[in-house]
Amino acid sequence: MPNHHPENVLDAVIVGGGPAGLSAALVLGRARKHVAVIDEGKPRNAVTGSTHGFLTRDPIPPQELRRIAAEQLGQYPSVRLVADTVSALTGSDGAFAVTTAQGQTYRARKVLLAAGMKDAPLPIPGLAEVYGRSAFVCPFCDGWELRERPLAVLAKGGDAMHLLKLLKGWSETLALCTNGPSELTDEQKGELAQRGIPVYEAPIARIDSRDGQARGIALADGTEVACKGIFFRSQLVPGAGLAEAAGCAHTEHGAVEADATGQTSVPGIYSAGDAASASHQAIAAAASGSMAGAGITFALNAEAWQRAGGAG
Ligand SMILES: Cc1cc2nc3c(=O)[nH]c(=O)nc-3n(C[C@H](O)[C@H](O)[C@H](O)COP(=O)(O)OP(=O)(O)OC[C@H]3O[C@@H](n4cnc5c(N)ncnc54)[C@H](O)[C@@H]3O)c2cc1C
Repeated sequence: MPNHHPENVLDAVIVGGGPAGLSAALVLGRARKHVAVIDEGKPRNAVTGSTHGFLTRDPIPPQELRRIAAEQLGQYPSVRLVADTVSALTGSDGAFAVTTAQGQTYRARKVLLAAGMKDAPLPIPGLAEVYGRSAFVCPFCDGWELRERPLAVLAKGGDAMHLLKLLKGWSETLALCTNGPSELTDEQKGELAQRGIPVYEAPIARIDSRDGQARGIALADGTEVACKGIFFRSQLVPGAGLAEAAGCAHTEHGAVEADATGQTSVPGIYSAGDAASASHQAIAAAASGSMAGAGITFALNAEAWQRAGGAG
């Protein structure tokens, strides 16, 4: 039997039902904890047809991964999946309150923030048509599908160098479009020249494509950069502003600071997945969600142990 909660307080509320939140729910459900996973259903990878590189599920449509997870979570009666948007988080360790857009309030001892990150759209005409089909953000996720194609990288400065160095493992034919000043040092420009990687600084007029497949990048100065695939550096914003509002510390890269168990700088608030990591992959998000589920279980069981000993 699941643990009994006469005062109607959940053990945990999980904000976000992506790989991280669902994986945490699995651990918590199996640990007999009462949890609600509240998810607004707008995953970061909604634009793609397939999630790649997830062991035993390579490839799988993102929504199918979630469907299987939800089906298997159905085995655990103390786990509830809720379609709603969390709008506010108040309270403190042991007594949190989460309110939603539909006007519900969930009380919980612990909160897991697994709301992911979102890619702010780049204002480049034609990018929306290719995004998720032949333009991507992560070589590990989609480099294999674009291997050996001529690739254009849309980024600047250190980000551009990082992506180009990585992508050289997938394609020999690379070009850099910086859509304005490149922000590269002379040394970096030299490195690229030595490796035959052209740098185009002119503003991008549009991305040309057919049926989602990139064919080239038209620059404002009339240059056409041929390519059959694009990787770009997007600007990431938190999936939900809840961690900021709750006062959780963040890393310099904008991720929520969390230890190996997902515990943030605010007692009782945990975070996992893209929201709490600089590396963004579904299997890594699921793994950190699993760790957070275990961390929350440890904390809850330790508190129950103390209470049973008369310590409050
Ligand atoms: C274009 C693209 C392609 C990708 N391809 C791959 C790939 O092939 N392989 C791979 O491993 N990874 C891939 N990724 C990365 C992968 O999508 C992420 O690493 C993964 O989804 C992170 O899981 P998560 O659970 O942390 O967040 P998400 O999957 O983003 O889930 C977070 C959930 O929280 C919800 N949410 C946010 N705010 C609230 C709120 N206030 N209330 C309720 N719910 C909320 C969101 O709607 C969302 O459903 C790709 C990413 C992109 C952008």
